Amino acid sequence: MARYTGPDCKLCRRERQKLYLKGTRCEGPKCAIEKRPYPPGEHGRGRIRESEYLLQLREKQKARRIYGVLERQFHNYYVEASRQGGMTGENLLRLLELRLDNVVYRGGLARSRDEARQMVRHRHFQVNGRTVNIPSYRVRPGDVITVRQRSRNMVPIIGALEIIGMKTIPGWLSTDQSKLQISVLDSPTRQQIDVPVQEQLIVELYSK
Ligand code: SF4
Repeated sequence: MARYTGPDCKLCRRERQKLYLKGTRCEGPKCAIEKRPYPPGEHGRGRIRESEYLLQLREKQKARRIYGVLERQFHNYYVEASRQGGMTGENLLRLLELRLDNVVYRGGLARSRDEARQMVRHRHFQVNGRTVNIPSYRVRPGDVITVRQRSRNMVPIIGALEIIGMKTIPGWLSTDQSKLQISVLDSPTRQQIDVPVQEQLIVELYSK
């Protein structure tokens, strides 16, 4: 599956806010948003004419970038969300939250979604005892995600455990640090999805 391979900090600067794409660096003084809080490029500091479309586009891009999903896959999530009952915007965020790479990150076994994605790709995680190497794999309530036995002493896992105390594990997940295990207790509600995205603007953009 294709993915964005350019500089992450440029994405935050484009959205003019921290998207927390690089783990511990995002909390420190080296964060690019602290040093250059304006969009990249020659016209980054120029005046931007705000429009309704621009606001909607920015919310969509922001959500895509937070979860590390390319345009086509993101649109597919939207189509699926719109077919489900209830609020399309909430459904969309729920589908994104239930991705395996996001769950590994939210559960505290990776320092960023990028790191989680790479570890999943490299077959370091099992879901209900079976190795899964698909970052977009959708977990379900009742699923148990564990680190494979041979991967337990990996540097990224140890690094993630060092900062797990600084993270808030959302209520729909439960992490057992001693077993290196995340249990999915439920599907997340909107209140439990901590992302700075106005999902209604994304729905408006796609429904045009
Ligand atoms: Fe974004 Fe993190 Fe880079 Fe700061 S350090 S600009 S939050 S990716």
